[in-house]
Amino acid sequence: MPRYTFLCKSCGEYDAWKSMSSDVANDVCPECNKETKRVYNGFQLSKMNSKLKSHIEQGMTPKVVTKNNLPQSNMKQQNRNPRPWMM
Ligand SMILES: [Zn+2]
Repeated sequence: MPRYTFLCKSCGEYDAWKSMSSDVANDVCPECNKETKRVYNGFQLSKMNSKLKSHIEQGMTPKVVTKNNLPQSNMKQQNRNPRPWMM
C-alpha cells in the first residue's frame, strides 16, 4: 500500500497507508478525528530520496570496484614477477 502524508491543523503532519481505491486526498486525523488534507511534499521527498539513493549506489559501486581492483592487480603482478628473478 502506498504511504501518504496528511496535515492536521491541530496535531501536524502524519503518515497514513491507504489503498489505491480509497480517497487519498482527504483523511481523518487519528489523534483528534478532524478532517485532514493530503500533503504532497512527502511524496515528492520520498521520490527524490529513492532517486538519489539509486544514483549514489550506481555511482559509488563502479568507483569502489575499479579503485580496489586496479592497485591490487598491479601489486600482485609487481610482487610476483620480481620474486622468481630474485630467487
Ligand atoms: Zn489532529
